[in-house]
Amino acid sequence: LLTVRDLVVEFPTRRGNLRALDQVSFDIAPGEVLGMVGESGAGKSLTGAAIIGLLEPPGRIAGGEIWLRDERIDNLPPEAMRRIRGRRIGMVFQDPLTSLNPLYTVAQQLIQTIRTHMDVSEGEARRRAVGLLDRVGIPAAARRIDDYPHHFSGGMRQRVVIALALAAEPELVIADEPTTALDVSVQAQIIDVLKEICAERGASVMLITHDMGVIAETADRVAVLYAGRVAEIGPVREVIQHARHPYTRGLMGAIP
Ligand code: ATP
Ligand code: MG
Repeated sequence: LLTVRDLVVEFPTRRGNLRALDQVSFDIAPGEVLGMVGESGAGKSLTGAAIIGLLEPPGRIAGGEIWLRDERIDNLPPEAMRRIRGRRIGMVFQDPLTSLNPLYTVAQQLIQTIRTHMDVSEGEARRRAVGLLDRVGIPAAARRIDDYPHHFSGGMRQRVVIALALAAEPELVIADEPTTALDVSVQAQIIDVLKEICAERGASVMLITHDMGVIAETADRVAVLYAGRVAEIGPVREVIQHARHPYTRGLMGAIP
């Protein structure tokens, strides 16, 4: 579904280019959950941002290719990339307020996303929005749908973000530390909901986290990033049992 080949991301500095991602390669199969772990600063978020075309300048792609099915997407014009971002790749960030607009109700945001990307009536979009909220575990979704984001708790807000990310039925969801800000009991529920819905739809997930425990529970394969490079990649069990890189070995201690 997604292929990242020899991706290089650089930041120009006065003393030359800082290479933040160096020849990063991996792919994600249809329906697969790929976990991505690595310590702070390893390049996980940059990898996600590069894929969805949201690298913040002066960061730039300085090499490599990114393919979504048979389309190369690392060099698309911004307008084309925006369409892919809404329609084919959904996103969940750590802070729900990155994705939610405080000035609009949850219904307005869901309906707008659905109608921007799909040819359905207002009524049908609303019906789908309620269905989605139900599905992500928002109790009495039909009533809460006209609330504003600040009426929801942190965990509920992140469920709304997941509904929003899934609204246009994307093929891939990139979740960057989607639950780090939440308490531990809520984290697992939210990841489960995301994984379940994607599994039903045959959508793939790229789950960025520095929690190897979450990966062990959730992912099919895992890519370990270290200092801007893929230190190892493979089925979770194999990487856990045969960790080659010292950083990965260190991580194993963190699995419950
Ligand atoms: P975390 O777990 O803390 O979220 P991460 O793996 O997501 O870490 P990234 O945000 O991808 O890390 O950053 C990777 C590296 O990219 C940083 O260590 C830094 O060297 C570089 N970097 C990111 N943003 C900038 C910037 N604006 N200017 C210069 N370098 C940057
Ligand atoms: Mg990050």
